[in-house]
Amino acid sequence: MRIGAHVDPADPLAEAASRAAEAVQFFLADPQGWKAPVPRPDAERLRAAEVDLYVHAPYVINVATLNNRIRIPSRKLLLAHATAAATIGATGLIVHGGHVNAGDDLAVGFDNWRKTFAYAAESGGFQVPVLIENTAGGDNACARRLDALARLWDAIGEYGVGFCLDTCHAHAGGEELLGLVDRIKAITGRIDLVHANNSKDAFGSGRDRHDNLAGGTIDPDLVVAVIRAAGAPVIVETPGGAVRQGEDITFLRDQLGAEAPAA
Ligand SMILES: [Zn+2]
Repeated sequence: MRIGAHVDPADPLAEAASRAAEAVQFFLADPQGWKAPVPRPDAERLRAAEVDLYVHAPYVINVATLNNRIRIPSRKLLLAHATAAATIGATGLIVHGGHVNAGDDLAVGFDNWRKTFAYAAESGGFQVPVLIENTAGGDNACARRLDALARLWDAIGEYGVGFCLDTCHAHAGGEELLGLVDRIKAITGRIDLVHANNSKDAFGSGRDRHDNLAGGTIDPDLVVAVIRAAGAPVIVETPGGAVRQGEDITFLRDQLGAEAPAA
């Protein structure tokens, strides 16, 4: 099982080494901005690396919205990130499930997701697997609660979409972690990546504030149980930089009986 962390994008391989991580996730552009990713001078080194690379798409992307001034640039930016992620040999591109605005029909949001994959297919398809991540908040989200996730997968399942399960988002979003992997796999058939995070906030709070694994409101054993059941690579998106994330990775390796990579 490959275990790693979300890191600063300046030198992801150095960040991996400082955490003894076998995988890293990072942004290719400002997560709060609309700028397309620029080519990385270290692309060849990243492609050749033993470390698995995951790219997280900007948070501003919302391909589900009925607001076309957000939706159209969102799907363009997502496609641009997939293309850029391929140039560095990334394993997957993680993007949040998105939402529609209050009063808007969620069914249109799911259809907008379908249109996103149809649009990408016209341009040759996404160049890396797209992993849709569950989110913590909002009443009109496409991938917060599993009833919505099932409708989303009805709309896009045919495109071979991947799924990223965030334990903080599930807990804060109001989905019990116990048995969650089976309930998700019954819908998606797969979990491609686990974001292993504890939550600073209560079950069902709808708030998205990650905590280190031994802290927070989730029993750390439950996070470990989710990882075991998912059988997928793991990224911690926890606070505290290399030291605290390194502790979180060590905690998971200890609990899972996994060995650290040779230095
Ligand atoms: Zn996450």
